[in-house]
Amino acid sequence: MEPIPYDERLAGAGGADIYNRFDGYSNEASELLKWSAANLETLERRIGIQKLSLDEIKSIYNNNQQRLSHLPVMRPVDGMILSNYGMRMHPVLKMRLMHEGMDFRANIGTPVFATGNGTIRFSGNRGTLGLLIEIDHSHGYITRYAHLSKLESGIRPGTKVNRGDLIGYSGNSGRVSGPHLHYEILKNGRSVDPIQYLFTDITPQEYLLYKRMGEEDYYAVNE
Ligand SMILES: [Zn+2]
Repeated sequence: MEPIPYDERLAGAGGADIYNRFDGYSNEASELLKWSAANLETLERRIGIQKLSLDEIKSIYNNNQQRLSHLPVMRPVDGMILSNYGMRMHPVLKMRLMHEGMDFRANIGTPVFATGNGTIRFSGNRGTLGLLIEIDHSHGYITRYAHLSKLESGIRPGTKVNRGDLIGYSGNSGRVSGPHLHYEILKNGRSVDPIQYLFTDITPQEYLLYKRMGEEDYYAVNE
């Protein structure tokens, strides 16, 4: 939000002598009364302006809350990052290919969580991705959780989920060289780097390691 200009917050009173009702007292008392009344009025104006500002922040927060709860900003699984998003050497095909998501180390049966509120759009087997869940978060976002071993009961197309809900269990289905969770975020139909959405959920060390993976085809062992 735009900050409130400082002089507006101070709410200057202007020059008119609006305190002549205190003129009947001794000079000293009159000055003191005028000074106190002026200070009180200035404070009242400042409080009014700050309150308007806080009300505005509150309304922006309320309007965005619905959108924010749908954004995929959580780790989908508790496990270290194995492989990053981007171009890298494919471990099986031995050629440089685009890796459309990021991989987390996860033993078979590790709980996998919805990373934002949304609706299950697909759950089932899909080629090299193995057992897959797709969540539509609206606002243009879709997430994918691949190579699963099992779906949580009740997870089927149309099921509504909230951020943090258990949706399934990681595994090694599809074309993999070992068990892990492959996680994708699509924005308006195109894959984006999930690291950009995990900023509240990774340590600075992990972020640096992740950037290094991108430079060195680091840990290029999974799909
Ligand atoms: Zn992957």
